[in-house]
Amino acid sequence: MHCDISQFQNTTFDLLIVGGGINGAAIANLAAQRGLKVTLLEKGDFASGTSSKSTKLLHGGIRYLENFEFDLVHESLHERFIQFKSVPHLAKPIRFIIPVYHGDKRPLWMMKLAVFLYDSLAGCYRIGKHQSLSREELRKLEPHLLNDGLMGAISYYDVQMDDARICLENILTAQQHGARVANYIKVMSFIHTDGKITGAKAVDVLTEKSFDVRAKRIVCTAGPWTNALLRVASPNTKKIVRTTKGIHIVYKGQLTSNALLITSRKDNRIFFIIPWLGNSLIGTTDTNYIGNPDQVKVNQEDIDYLLKEASRVLPSVDFSPENIITTFAGLRPLIRKGGAPSKVSRKHFIMETPSGLIVVIGGKYTTYRKIAEECVNRVIANSEGVKQSLKRLLRRFAPRNDVNVQYSLYGSGPINDDLNQIARDQGLTLDTIEILIKTYGTRFKAVLALTKNQPSLKEPICTCTPFIKAQIVYAIETEMARTAEDIIQRRLSLIYRDCRTKDCERVIADFINKSIST
Ligand code: FAD
Repeated sequence: MHCDISQFQNTTFDLLIVGGGINGAAIANLAAQRGLKVTLLEKGDFASGTSSKSTKLLHGGIRYLENFEFDLVHESLHERFIQFKSVPHLAKPIRFIIPVYHGDKRPLWMMKLAVFLYDSLAGCYRIGKHQSLSREELRKLEPHLLNDGLMGAISYYDVQMDDARICLENILTAQQHGARVANYIKVMSFIHTDGKITGAKAVDVLTEKSFDVRAKRIVCTAGPWTNALLRVASPNTKKIVRTTKGIHIVYKGQLTSNALLITSRKDNRIFFIIPWLGNSLIGTTDTNYIGNPDQVKVNQEDIDYLLKEASRVLPSVDFSPENIITTFAGLRPLIRKGGAPSKVSRKHFIMETPSGLIVVIGGKYTTYRKIAEECVNRVIANSEGVKQSLKRLLRRFAPRNDVNVQYSLYGSGPINDDLNQIARDQGLTLDTIEILIKTYGTRFKAVLALTKNQPSLKEPICTCTPFIKAQIVYAIETEMARTAEDIIQRRLSLIYRDCRTKDCERVIADFINKSIST
């Protein structure tokens, strides 16, 4: 349960990564797989920053087309395809419908052109084909959708994912390849040798023990905390990251069968209403944020904006604050540039400070693998000879069949078992077996194995889900959960479900307390 800090001492790592969001996790994973001696330190839980506050889409970003960012959309659609193929338990296709109304900023022809371009840019990485929908077809698909002023509708496909668990699976895969990863360890300052950064001073946030870590190269993947970390490295450093806030509402019940892409009447922004774990995810906003990233929160104004817009297009739904299950706010770590928040590019950028700190800025969740590849190539290029660098460069321009690119994570792989048989053998419901597979992929058997000597772990955690107690033990022993919140929010996503009794929270807190005292 406690982090063993001796694993970071008396050794010099090839690479130290500061920040365990998706970018840090993927860099740790790829670097470890390429043979580097890697460590990653995260000040909270893995993915507790922006990487669990996203809209949970692996997407090209249809709205970036109007900013003419065709290269970003193309790259993202390619990455969407790789994830969809590689982690099918955590990434599922989802159909989006765009209803267009009289007076919307973007007319129907423009939306039709957008989805056509979107699918064309995806090419062989397309997930499903776009389609024009008649009023009648739309009424059948979404009977609660506003009909007045409707000009037409189009549908297209994207991918819905579990952001916190994809990040965690990168962490666990990195660990499997020898990386030393730890959560609740904060980097407080850097160690300099001859003007270059050669290590960090860190503290275990839960035990307050301090220690030093030495590394040949250090990467900062601190997302919205990048400016603060760079100031620790060098007090006069200019701010390089601009943060914009985005909030989501998880609303009780599945309001629509498909995801909806809606144009807001207030500011012409695009927002979504998406089915999510039996409820509805409504979001997001995009407003400038200049405060402390640790204190970002949802304001009443944000909630009012989203609920007002959602109730306009779903007039028969009686939107009321009591039906809000939860809300969450995240910060986009964007490259520092002026202009409206939604106009700032979501492209990533990797730079190096004069003291040798590599800094990853910007990007989208969807492009994390690409960002990690570029960053690890850079780290390795710095340490390899000219001949190897040249070879790597030539490989980069060689023709490739990218359709076959695989990015296996901790739970990746085919599952060919007879699930009914497993349910019978285990004395569990099929619902439980299916939800275990959706959560852990091929690793679901490792969760079930925990019940062999302790059958009581087959008991349900609560009445709100088919989850079983073995999952709590697995989260603590294998997935490095150190607090009840880690399990409720990011290992099991219980926070998005409509639990009336909150028994799940009490049961999880009991397990955590017992694990601390043993
Ligand atoms: P983070 O996830 O924030 O990770 C940085 C980590 O560094 C944090 O966990 C933090 O605790 C840690 N850290 C900071 N300082 C220290 C320190 N001193 N020591 C140790 N650790 C430290 N992208 C998509 O592709 N699809 C979407 O649907 C999508 N939706 C979004 C919706 C919203 C509202 C927002 C805000 C973003 C969305 N994005 C989306 C963008 C995407 O979520 C981000 O690009 C991505 O999560 C950024 O990951 P990161 O690793 O850079 O940052």
